[in-house]
Amino acid sequence: MEAIGVVCEVCDWRYFALDDETVPDVDRSIACPHCGSPRMVPLDQDTVDHVYSAPPEMVVPFGVSEAKLAQQIATFASGIPYAPPDLTTTALRHRLQRLYLPMWLVDVDVSTQWGAEVGFDYEVVSHQERYADGVGWRTAEVRETRVRWEPRIGTLERHYDNTAAPALETQAALQRVLGSFDLARAEPYRPESLGRVLVRMPDRSPEAAWPDAVAALQDRAAQECQVAAEADYIRSYRWSPAYANPAWTLLLLPVLAAAYLDDDGAPRRVLIHGQTGQVYGVRRGSMKRA
Ligand SMILES: [Zn+2]
Repeated sequence: MEAIGVVCEVCDWRYFALDDETVPDVDRSIACPHCGSPRMVPLDQDTVDHVYSAPPEMVVPFGVSEAKLAQQIATFASGIPYAPPDLTTTALRHRLQRLYLPMWLVDVDVSTQWGAEVGFDYEVVSHQERYADGVGWRTAEVRETRVRWEPRIGTLERHYDNTAAPALETQAALQRVLGSFDLARAEPYRPESLGRVLVRMPDRSPEAAWPDAVAALQDRAAQECQVAAEADYIRSYRWSPAYANPAWTLLLLPVLAAAYLDDDGAPRRVLIHGQTGQVYGVRRGSMKRA
């Protein structure tokens, strides 16, 4: 990736500018999507190469409709007693700035022996004798589903593509306030598909993300073993994997950044989920209207 790094001097969020047009210079100021500051300066290339500058491979596209966005902004505003007059869909819409947050994707070869218990649904039919006055004895058939568990062992040698893991220290906190992303919608990255958009740089190393990737890989492997056994359930999955040839790339998650003005004319930042329109920001009421 011919990425140029920029850093916000105020909040220290770092970004990749994938397109020359998004790189700030003397004639053109680019505001920081996170804090709104125009003090965005290029990072020197050594710093960019030194951080985790893996290429983007997949992108979750922006998918929130205008109507849904308007509804979510209205919901956010209605949660504030005496919402500031500037907190409207029309005002926010003009200040929306697209941004992508990174997740790691890792491709890796796995070889392992595995063991598990696999479960199969089966039906038990029994009969109950019931007595009622005027009716007499009746026999009722009772059907009940139970699970039969069987042990299974096997081996697995397989290449796994694109296991996702957090690339930001704050990913869990962000997803708590914005909601999770539908990664199944991810599409292959094409440089021209992004346009003038900043991508936040990972601040979490692949080594730090690896245990999360391993947990996700184990879930994927367990599900496949369940399918292979044609079972309805799997439990107590255990394995002793050896990994080879890990390759790291990025998955990009869509977020909109915007600001509304409080009574003092000071901007209050909000972040908006690019798929659901879920809004997160400090809910600052209007003292004047109160
Ligand atoms: Zn900033």
